[in-house]
Amino acid sequence: MRIVLLGAPGSGKGTQSQRLVERVGIPQISTGDLLREAVARGTELGRQAKEAMDSGRLVEDSLVLGMIRERLGEPDARRGFILDGFPRNLAQAHALDRLLEALKQPLDAVVQLEVDSRELVRRIAGRRSCADCGRVFNLLTSPPSGARAVCPKTGAPHRLMQRPDDNEATVAERLRVYDEKTRPLIDFYRARGLLQVIDAEAAVDEVTARLAQALRVPALRAPKRAAGARRGAAKRARKPAKKKAAATAKRTRASRASPKRRSTRTRRAKAPRAGAVRGARRRKSTRR
Ligand SMILES: [Zn+2]
Repeated sequence: MRIVLLGAPGSGKGTQSQRLVERVGIPQISTGDLLREAVARGTELGRQAKEAMDSGRLVEDSLVLGMIRERLGEPDARRGFILDGFPRNLAQAHALDRLLEALKQPLDAVVQLEVDSRELVRRIAGRRSCADCGRVFNLLTSPPSGARAVCPKTGAPHRLMQRPDDNEATVAERLRVYDEKTRPLIDFYRARGLLQVIDAEAAVDEVTARLAQALRVPALRAPKRAAGARRGAAKRARKPAKKKAAATAKRTRASRASPKRRSTRTRRAKAPRAGAVRGARRRKSTRR
């Protein structure tokens, strides 16, 4: 399954990509990570990219595409990929189209996570990360609570910090750039019959369920065992009035009781797919 997730900063794109990586077992291809890796490894493309960055120029699309092409050649990308942070504008979308056509690996779906801009600003303002372990939290949507309140690095509560570019002025500018450059991709992919828009202004689990439905991947629905269940429980306790959440919980409980589902999970636990493991490692490294 070859997917592009589109969404403004704060739309939950990162979180939902991680869930796809964990549950569908396809790698997340982040152009930011690719650039850093290529520079660190000192490949030819990395050398050229470093030269551009050192002289304050933007890294050319052709370089980024070269890195994507190389990355798609690795074995874990054979079953598919989620492109993260690319394309960001129409020129890149056209170039990506040509590359994937040449590789005979066309996109299966492009999903736009739609969130109202006022909500985006609110969410970004709530973002915090731990200065010690690098974990990312959101005071509004995923605060450090329960077992997640303790820092694995220090054993004490996390030391939460706000990223300098998550302040209100910078957020407004990032959203403006998104609207101007990236939003036109919605029409581009709609015209190609690839676009799915989902309302991403809901609890994280509910958005995952909508994403699963849009992509028709039932495996995506299964919540991660303990942590996911606890988070869900906490959320439900805080918002008892939400009927929709209760219904989702009921469905989740029902699916958990199904022996078929359990056996699938056991199998997966015994033999993790290479892609999943790799994905987990990559994610860890991006967080730091
Ligand atoms: Zn921590």
